[in-house]
Amino acid sequence: MSKIFNFCAGPAMLPVEVMQKAQAEFVNWQNLGCSVMEISHRSKEFIEVAEQAEQNLRNLLNVPANYSVLFAHGGGRGQFSAVPMNLATAEQSAAYLLTGSWSDGAFNEAEKYLNAKIVGRTETHDGLVSVPKLILNEDEQDFAYYHFCPNETVEGIEISELPQTGNVPIVADMSSNILSRQIDVSQYGVIYAGAQKNIGPSGLSVVIVREDLLDRARDTTPSFMHYQTMTKYQSMYNTPPTYAWYLAGLVFKWLKANGGVAAMEQKNIEKAALLYRCIDESDFYLNKVHPDFRSRMNVGFHLADNKLDELFLQQAEKAGLRALKGHRIVGGMRASIYNAMPLEGVSTLTEFMRDFARSHG
Ligand code: PMP
Repeated sequence: MSKIFNFCAGPAMLPVEVMQKAQAEFVNWQNLGCSVMEISHRSKEFIEVAEQAEQNLRNLLNVPANYSVLFAHGGGRGQFSAVPMNLATAEQSAAYLLTGSWSDGAFNEAEKYLNAKIVGRTETHDGLVSVPKLILNEDEQDFAYYHFCPNETVEGIEISELPQTGNVPIVADMSSNILSRQIDVSQYGVIYAGAQKNIGPSGLSVVIVREDLLDRARDTTPSFMHYQTMTKYQSMYNTPPTYAWYLAGLVFKWLKANGGVAAMEQKNIEKAALLYRCIDESDFYLNKVHPDFRSRMNVGFHLADNKLDELFLQQAEKAGLRALKGHRIVGGMRASIYNAMPLEGVSTLTEFMRDFARSHG
């Protein structure tokens, strides 16, 4: 089989070394004669895996000591409901910045639980999408929190600037860009991320919560989603997704061995630049996001002649370039190039794109 590069937006490719390690110890882990997924989450062996994963994640992101790190069920959307239930009463308001499908989704869910207010939306100028200034004024300090999505996976929009919210805690859905760039965790109230892009398999989510926000949950918050309860039980109030947690731990070790988040960020800058350069150098491909807000993780592009879309996808597949079809909402193509995607994958894609443009331009 020739080399395959998988550009799926999620569940996405994991580092090859991680998959090989998991394969090697799949049926006989640590010489126990069984798999890590077949042992108790309360066994000393699993607790060690769990604690090591948490510690490595803390080190990778420089998580300050006054933050809980939780390994939760329910993926990214689970947190769309957990956030309002944990941080506010039904009578309170929360601010939502709408920049694409996932922040829209978070807003729609939050509306069920509290007074969710839209404080900004993307704008289109000269055909390019951009994000307005992210500021809460002095008369907007009553919000229980300010929610935004720093990387919109579907639309390929990334926000690198931190919102200026005064005393209102910032909540960020980092499902598709966590660990891809350096961040200052101390600036956030809550960071959450579904695992299936830069962390591990789907179903798991990582939640990082500032301790002073742990006592704000309403009484009706389900216990397994309750940040304080989860903190008290070290994310084992109910049986956690143990295999996903173990794999996340392998990914964190891989990140550490490969230079950590700073090194990933450099590699991600390089990969994204390569791909956007290829898109911009001719009129054959188009990207409609303002350069300041182009995602490093999810690079969307359209063929100027969309009648060629099917052929492009067929030939890409034949060339070993998988899952390039854009999300149905936006159409066109999308290359998701998370941490695990090697530079070689992106350069193979750009070579293919140039060949295709020469043959059909
Ligand atoms: N937020 C973002 C930014 C996402 O990309 C996704 C999934 N693609 C979600 C939330 C939802 O995650 P899940 O399907 O795990 O609930």
